[in-house]
Amino acid sequence: MGIVFNSSNFPSERATKARVLVAGGAGFLGSHLCERLLREGRTVVCVDNFSTGRMENIRHLLRFDTFSYVRHDVIDPIDLPVDEIYNLACPASPPHYQADPIHTMKTNVIGSLNLLQLAARYQARIFQASTSEVYGDPHVHPQPESYWGNVNSFGPRSCYDEGKRCAETLFYDFHKQHGVDIRIVRIFNTYGPRMRPDDGRVVSNFITQALQGKDITIYGDGSQTRSFCYVDDLIDGFSRLMYNPRAIHTPVNIGNPGEFTVRELAEQIVEMTGSSSSVVYYPLPTDDPRQRRPDITLAERELGWAPKIALTEGLKSTITYFERQLVRPNGELAE
Ligand code: NAD
Ligand code: UDP
Repeated sequence: MGIVFNSSNFPSERATKARVLVAGGAGFLGSHLCERLLREGRTVVCVDNFSTGRMENIRHLLRFDTFSYVRHDVIDPIDLPVDEIYNLACPASPPHYQADPIHTMKTNVIGSLNLLQLAARYQARIFQASTSEVYGDPHVHPQPESYWGNVNSFGPRSCYDEGKRCAETLFYDFHKQHGVDIRIVRIFNTYGPRMRPDDGRVVSNFITQALQGKDITIYGDGSQTRSFCYVDDLIDGFSRLMYNPRAIHTPVNIGNPGEFTVRELAEQIVEMTGSSSSVVYYPLPTDDPRQRRPDITLAERELGWAPKIALTEGLKSTITYFERQLVRPNGELAE
């Protein structure tokens, strides 16, 4: 069943301000985005099925009378008069998106379709959170937007990678066929406060393991690389792309070009937490990309965007966040 809103039951009276729907707004990135949009004076409706999102990510936003949330799955249609839509709805961590791969595919394809139809209905600008995973296990390094990628259509990561690729195609087609005003960001690995301790991605895993004195789980030999972007830099990139004076309707990479091996990341986190954890090695998951680094020439040139926060600085605030998350009422760390 779809959800229908109209002007009279839209959750804000300040209809003169831009009304923004943030799908996936209770998640890690979505909650930071909602916060920024509210601070800029927009009226925000967070639409989330709370599968990987959490109420605690958005509870502090309820004090804004311009903020509301709806528990809703984007695979069902939604009708809500809006000026802007951000589509971040989709689990991002491999264990989460692989837990129900059919639902992940539906979220990316049917969810995007529903939101694009909404954008077409209200002539709203729509933003898609795409991903560096569209480049798969890349043969071109670093990855520019012009690279078509090396993606397996038949494997455990395919529901996410191919789902996101299909969503990009839908965005392209709605722009060409219906003139919908689209923006697409290809996000490279991003970390920061509000990641779940049980998220399963590498930064949150290593920090929780280090803080709890558990073994640090490196998959493969740890020589694979990733480029880690701090959440504040990423959200700044979102904003610059969405509100850039010149509309850019093609995908734009946003990520930090600083490239690290997974082993280097583990060593850095162990050192910064002063942990006594040891490192253990597990098999590399199927189709795990060997290397990844964004070419951000386009974002630098067109948006004047470049990341400002170095890995050590971003890790410091992320570690502080996880320390608070893991602490029990008696002051001890949770196991
Ligand atoms: P997240 O899992 O914390 O957030 C995803 C949010 O979407 C959650 O609140 C979840 O409950 C919600 N959601 C999932 N399926 C939904 C559905 N069918 N209907 C409604 N809500 C749904 O992940 P994140 O890191 O915040 O990622 C946000 C977006 O950015 C995702 O689309 C992800 O693919 C993309 N992305 C993130 C990264 C990254 O490094 N964080 C990298 C590339 C792309
Ligand atoms: N990884 C790891 N240990 C973990 C979690 C992840 O070694 O506990 C590796 C994973 O195999 C991958 C990299 O870290 O090579 C980044 O994984 P993540 O799930 O964070 O993101 P993605 O693979 O989607 O880039």
